[in-house]
Amino acid sequence: MLLAAAQSALKRYFGYDQFRPLQAEIITTVLQGQDSLVLMPTGGGKSLCFQIPALVLPGTCVVVSPLISLMRDQVEALKANGISADFLNSTQNAEDQRRIENELYDGELDLLYVSPEKLLTAQVLTMLSRSKVNLIAIDEAHCISAWGHDFRPEYTQLKVLKQQFPKVPIIALTATADKITRRDMVEQLALRAPAVFIASFDRPNLSLEVRPGQDRLKQILDFIKPRSKQAGIIYCLSRKGTESLAEKLKGAGIKAGVYHAGLSPMQRAKVQDDFLNDNLNVVCATIAFGMGIDKSNVRWVAHYNLPKNLESYYQEIGRAGRDGTKADTLLFYSYADVTNMHDMLSEGENAEQVKVQLLKLERMQQYAEAQACRRRILLAYFGENMEQNCGNCDVCKNPPQRIDGTVIAQKALSAVSRLQEKVPMGVVIEVLRGSGRREIIQAGYDQIKTYGAGREISQYDWQQYLSQLINLGYLEVAYDAGQVLRLSNASSNVLFQGQKVELVKPSSYKDRQEQEKQAVKVKSEAEKRQERVRDDLFEELRQLRREIAVKNGVPPYVVFSDKTLEEMAFKRPSDEATMLSVSGIGQQKMQQYGQLFIEAILDFVNRNLPKEDNGTYKLSLNWLKKGMSIEEIAEKRGVAPGTIMSHLAYLHEMGEAVPIEQFVSRDEIKKILAAKPYLEQPNLLKGLYDYFDGNMSYDKIRLALAEERRGK
Ligand code: ADP
Ligand code: ZN
Repeated sequence: MLLAAAQSALKRYFGYDQFRPLQAEIITTVLQGQDSLVLMPTGGGKSLCFQIPALVLPGTCVVVSPLISLMRDQVEALKANGISADFLNSTQNAEDQRRIENELYDGELDLLYVSPEKLLTAQVLTMLSRSKVNLIAIDEAHCISAWGHDFRPEYTQLKVLKQQFPKVPIIALTATADKITRRDMVEQLALRAPAVFIASFDRPNLSLEVRPGQDRLKQILDFIKPRSKQAGIIYCLSRKGTESLAEKLKGAGIKAGVYHAGLSPMQRAKVQDDFLNDNLNVVCATIAFGMGIDKSNVRWVAHYNLPKNLESYYQEIGRAGRDGTKADTLLFYSYADVTNMHDMLSEGENAEQVKVQLLKLERMQQYAEAQACRRRILLAYFGENMEQNCGNCDVCKNPPQRIDGTVIAQKALSAVSRLQEKVPMGVVIEVLRGSGRREIIQAGYDQIKTYGAGREISQYDWQQYLSQLINLGYLEVAYDAGQVLRLSNASSNVLFQGQKVELVKPSSYKDRQEQEKQAVKVKSEAEKRQERVRDDLFEELRQLRREIAVKNGVPPYVVFSDKTLEEMAFKRPSDEATMLSVSGIGQQKMQQYGQLFIEAILDFVNRNLPKEDNGTYKLSLNWLKKGMSIEEIAEKRGVAPGTIMSHLAYLHEMGEAVPIEQFVSRDEIKKILAAKPYLEQPNLLKGLYDYFDGNMSYDKIRLALAEERRGK
């Protein structure tokens, strides 16, 4: 019963048909009044776990949230869904606070967001004790743990909540899952027999890819090109790195900005805002970026340099695709990166910590060099076992080709041995390839037996082979002695016992590009056309979303998520019922924006797709001529009246005799066409509609444009 109410709130307010894994169980627990602890990855859908109960139960849900900027965005998003929500924090004036207080007493608020320091004031605690609190949600609850990375002392005082509101259930939520943090949350919040929910940390919509770091600027430019209208983040190692990369991207015509701790708070806020509002497509950032923003439509994340451990890596790529739609991640990897990171970490004061960090770096490196499904490795690191390969990582997509690498290994090991284990990888390769560089000759390396023995293998491939030999344990890198390559105990088996070595054929950047091209070619012409249409429509809908967002002063994703727009571009709904079936469109958004988007879709269909349905269009025209009204025809066809009108407009444009004078006068047509020169995109219905301030119907505008085109 309770769950039925929850289900209907899910559809009505959020426009979703189904709960995600664990959401229903969590919500039931909360509705039954039990405390709970929820561990779910970023983007897993934690918020709904308290927002739905807040809507179903009488009274107000108090949400403790640490970041003021996030609080504001979440409240905006709730309001856009027709939910009554507000926030209290130290940035507000007395008047706002009084208004909110009154709303609270009148029982008008479903959700009240509060920062911890504000909540703990006597004033707010008293206020809450005088109102009907139905649930307390502690978001980002890991902030309570002194062991964690985001420790906030105020959080440790939240204990008082259980004392003050012993009957109100508490739900603590976080994306950080380690055991110490978990225990701290339960203890410090004094949760009573909490139900613990641990969701899978898998994010199947994120593709995983690792590429060798050679030529990374060119690679990243090629990567961005087909994604130029999408939002993406590139993480770099240093401030300088972000700045020089952003300059180069800008030079290539990409709207890029930088974000790092060296900028002033104002500069940083500006970058965040621009990114949030889709004015800036790419942000080159150090690790600090992404913490305080809730942008759900980041479509890709790239790591220009190797992150220092898998925790950081996973958290950073986790900022992509929070709306659940496909998103891509790309990691560049080179030995030089490992070396740099190794040196940086080794500078730490605490020897014990340095040791741990170096071990973590090693795991990171192993991940980057892995020849098995990357997602399995990643999840295994976080303690989850996947039964199957994921199919959405580069290894799954291009399974490695194994070759007999015995001779290659022998050449390499022999070169290292003859170079007396005194030179780094780059020089070993030069010797193997017979480089004529002065330093090589001066050192007499051209005299050793393996000089030039590996000429036929490219420098790039040698790098890959040597990395593999290191991973397989046949070579070692002396991190403490200038990165020189040394033999290992296992080397002699290969050199002297004839042991076989299996290696993976390096796939070069060119190979990959070729493979990608091949993959594209397999699609049929019809499929490609459909995709093109979808992309074009998506772009127009995105544009409309932007205009609405600017007008309402909210970020675009508050209007609709990318996922919603994608589904719209796919389904092309032309009536209310179909529009409501699109994920993410609840009652409020239907009412506010539904019609605008339907019009935009019809308009697009008219400009791009009419020919296919010519026959059925004519049927509509026939019925009209027989005296049926537009409404009757629409009813009979099961589509919106606007759709029928758009059919008629199309036929009129194509030269059919359509009695348009029934719907629009000569005068009106003249007025409409006269307005066109004032508009930036004179053929978009919406521009004209706005121009007349809503006093000229879409139908009339559509017919006027058809009349004009008919004349041409
Ligand atoms: P988290 O707080 O765990 O990072 P959110 O609560 O912000 O995640 O949810 C991430 C995205 O998933 C949001 O866009 C949200 O609207 C969407 N979402 C949540 N639950 C569902 C659901 N049951 N069906 C479809 N989308 C959902
Ligand atoms: Zn995989």
